[in-house]
Amino acid sequence: MPASSEDVSLAVQATMKTPLGRDYAFVSGGHSLTGASSSRGLVIDLKRLNHTTVLHNFTDPMTQRGITVVMYEGGVTSFGLQSAVNGSDWTAVTARASSVGMGGFSTGGGIGFMANAYGYAIDRLVALEVVLPSGEIVIATKKNKHSDLFWAIQGGSGQFGIVTKFYQKAFRTPKNVKVGFHVVGNGSVTQSFRNTEVFFARHTDPFSLMYYALAYLPIGWPHAREEEMGFRVTRLMVTLRFEEPEQPHGAHEQPENTFRTLFSGLSLDSSLSYTVPFADLTTLSDSFFPAGYRRGFWGPQVINVTETYLSAVDDSFRDYIDAMLTRGETPSTSTWVLQYMLPGLNGHLPASDADTAWPHSVAGHQTLFDPGWHRASSDSVVEAFNEVLYSLARREATTVGSHNRNPGSSSSVRGLGAPYDYPNYIKPHAKGEEVWGHNTARLASVKQKYDPECLLHKGRVFSSPGCVSPGFANVF
Ligand SMILES: Cc1cc2nc3c(=O)[nH]c(=O)nc-3n(C[C@H](O)[C@H](O)[C@H](O)COP(=O)(O)OP(=O)(O)OC[C@H]3O[C@@H](n4cnc5c(N)ncnc54)[C@H](O)[C@@H]3O)c2cc1C
Repeated sequence: MPASSEDVSLAVQATMKTPLGRDYAFVSGGHSLTGASSSRGLVIDLKRLNHTTVLHNFTDPMTQRGITVVMYEGGVTSFGLQSAVNGSDWTAVTARASSVGMGGFSTGGGIGFMANAYGYAIDRLVALEVVLPSGEIVIATKKNKHSDLFWAIQGGSGQFGIVTKFYQKAFRTPKNVKVGFHVVGNGSVTQSFRNTEVFFARHTDPFSLMYYALAYLPIGWPHAREEEMGFRVTRLMVTLRFEEPEQPHGAHEQPENTFRTLFSGLSLDSSLSYTVPFADLTTLSDSFFPAGYRRGFWGPQVINVTETYLSAVDDSFRDYIDAMLTRGETPSTSTWVLQYMLPGLNGHLPASDADTAWPHSVAGHQTLFDPGWHRASSDSVVEAFNEVLYSLARREATTVGSHNRNPGSSSSVRGLGAPYDYPNYIKPHAKGEEVWGHNTARLASVKQKYDPECLLHKGRVFSSPGCVSPGFANVF
């Protein structure tokens, strides 16, 4: 458990002195689903490397101007970061669940609650301190001699070195967030799909967002009474409106107008609304991810959200629940969630797919299939349903409209017209080109340069010569 960058460097060098160390992993929040942070050999646990602070007048390597950044060390969690900056008026993009490590989150994309207003974490990074597999400590920026390393860490995950310090551009903390949980009545399901389609097509406010969620919840949730024991597939519309720190109550839209179309003509079984401080948001979603289950965390991005698509997903999710119940499984913590993403992310997307390791000059609405189950013998069944959900997204909902691009984008979108899959939600067996597109080959050459012996070979491993010959490579 190293507590400083120098400790990390010493730990990395120590790995080379023992046969067990040759099989080492490092872990931040421990949420990797690809086994990337686990090892039967040695695990370097970064949880004590968790210092976080707001720095003013940090020189932006790109513009040479003074900016405000949040500096966080490689082992801090999302909750740890929000707690540390709470009260400073500044914050950074973190994950939406409190225990997610900022290490994995910030190297695999980084979609937070405020992505619509401020973009993804990887695009807000301005500098990184990295311990290379050799033990050398380097600073990487978009402009210096390690710009290739910086580029690779913007979406290539933990294959290039251990990031000991992240410097992420800060933004002003919204004081409050109005959160709404709305349960769609059984007679209004089709109308809710229709309203969601319209909302996704027309919404323009970066400071409000909605999730359409399917969940297997206790009947009557959130007011379930004992006599109503039992579960059912529940459709939830979750709304969030962030108070804009610089223009409270809406430069873009009046709060009361934001979600009006979403609920028109709908009958809701229940509707809860309350206002919470921004710093508390990461703990709000924790109850949706209880421990003690095997769990998936997968989902592609979708450009056009249509009623047909939502209805097909609804059918598949119910089929999945039925299949799991038939197997004697407990699927009660399973959800499927669609997050509205503002086209162009308010100007925060890269101009080109080549600018970052994860190509994302086009942003789609983010889907997430988060099944929970118990038995390893059900793994393949769950994965098969995940494939069905992927194919629905691909088939029905991927035509790129020009409004989805960052204005000024010059990138060409691959044949299907779809955005690339999201590294942080990478599905089992994903091919390199599905996630990293044409950047996959360059990632392999950066891997060879910084980790020629393929010492970091857990999880998804790029196919550098050093990783292909011992058989570690699995991203082609
Ligand atoms: C409940 C839950 C909620 C989630 N919410 C979100 C969300 O809101 N938004 C989102 O984008 N994703 C989310 N994710 C996905 C999450 O971002 C990824 O699973 C991420 O990889 C987890 O990072 P970690 O540090 O917790 O995991 P770990 O297992 O510790 O690490 C994951 C990978 O990152 C590497 N890594 C960790 N720390 C560092 C470091 N300091 N330097 C370099 N590499 C490092 C590891 O070696 C490993 O390869 C969520 C996942 C779960 C399970």
